[in-house]
Amino acid sequence: MDATPELDPDLLDKVVNLAKRRGFVFQSAEIYGGFRSTYDYGPLGVNMLRNVKNAWWRSMVQTRHDIVGLDAAIMGPSAVWAASGHLETFTDPLVDCLVCKERWREDKIDGVCPNCGSTNFTSPRAFNLMFKTQAGPVEGEGSTAYLRPETAQGIFTNFANVLSTTRKKPPFGIAQIGKSFRNEITPQNFVFRTREFEQMEMEYFVRPDSADEWYRYWIDARFNWYLDLGIPEALLRKHEHAKEDLSHYSKGTTDVEFLYPWGWDELEGVANRGDYDLSQHSKFSGVALDYFDQAANERYTPYVIEPAAGATRALLAFLLAAYHEDEVEGETRTVLRLDWRLAPYQVAVLPLSKKPELEGVSTEVLNSLQPHFMCDYDVTQSIGKRYRRQDEVGTPYCVTIDFETLNDRAVTVRDRDTTTQVRVPIADLTHHFWNLSTS
Ligand code: ATP
Repeated sequence: MDATPELDPDLLDKVVNLAKRRGFVFQSAEIYGGFRSTYDYGPLGVNMLRNVKNAWWRSMVQTRHDIVGLDAAIMGPSAVWAASGHLETFTDPLVDCLVCKERWREDKIDGVCPNCGSTNFTSPRAFNLMFKTQAGPVEGEGSTAYLRPETAQGIFTNFANVLSTTRKKPPFGIAQIGKSFRNEITPQNFVFRTREFEQMEMEYFVRPDSADEWYRYWIDARFNWYLDLGIPEALLRKHEHAKEDLSHYSKGTTDVEFLYPWGWDELEGVANRGDYDLSQHSKFSGVALDYFDQAANERYTPYVIEPAAGATRALLAFLLAAYHEDEVEGETRTVLRLDWRLAPYQVAVLPLSKKPELEGVSTEVLNSLQPHFMCDYDVTQSIGKRYRRQDEVGTPYCVTIDFETLNDRAVTVRDRDTTTQVRVPIADLTHHFWNLSTS
């Protein structure tokens, strides 16, 4: 196993600072003093977050014949959460420090107040993490609704719909990306733990006797997804939960963990949920949620293997892993070594000068690339400064248009990581980038 790499103690601050300064992530409602632990994704952040979600969708849905997508409602009636167990068990033990009055999750503080060091707390109280609201104008039990704390339940409640409309057979999966909400007691570490966040979850329905095999399969597949998108292996590990730590629904859970600046912590959870969810919803709704295997003449309730990832948490991990400071021509530069598929911009088009002669050809180059790649266009400042600005936000390639372009119909392509430059004819540019991105 690789030795644990040394981490820069200021890494989180540097990434938070860069994220704000360059328009990845802003504090929500900042002009009103900020809404604690809630964040908005700026022009670069929204591109990158979409890229994270697209990469997940591509690997889970687009490139597989056994998984289909879904986009279920965020708000749901009490009945769903009674069946799933969230009304009763989705709680954290909450304690108040008797000295400084700060409130903490008892299971996260090792008996000592992280704020003042006191060991005097109130006794723990159960605190339900779901956001409760009311649907419609009349208050009452029938109108109580909840914001989903995970996307999974919308998949289970649509199991029969998806089965009958797609004619899929186990093993098959239903994937979903969307917002989830948890009234976290101690949201922290930037977008790592927030009250509003985005999840990417897939429920994979299998024959019970093949559940363990698929559980192992998905642990490896999900681990490899992060590797493939550029997180170094030394920053990733698998952590299998001990039986006594498992959630009420789980027959086995393994987290994919990332080495954050504060230590190893969860990036994604892969769980064998058994037949808990389908059985519960079947019992509570009275609708059969099982599968009839015609070939074997056998009816069974599928087991579910669930890889559950956070899109916003993954964005943070990708940023942390990509952040580097190196030296180019005697100067320190900040560079995000983001995978091409995740970078907010794949290509920056940079006319060497603002002179009108270069405008026409620069626009032509931009127009030819934009249908294929997310492009930035920047004419301000010296070319060296503009390269640094692109390096800092992870743009893999810069295209510079100079006066020679008017004669040779070619441009200079600069590589972010090596800083090497090659001359490429405008006519070949799109193919040039396609080839680089798939090599
Ligand atoms: P944790 O122990 O960190 O609270 P969890 O085990 O409760 O997480 P799951 O219910 O397994 O998390 O959710 C699946 C994934 O959703 C997590 O691995 C994480 O990536 C993401 N996630 C969960 N809660 C949050 C949150 N409050 N903010 C951001 N992402 C979250």
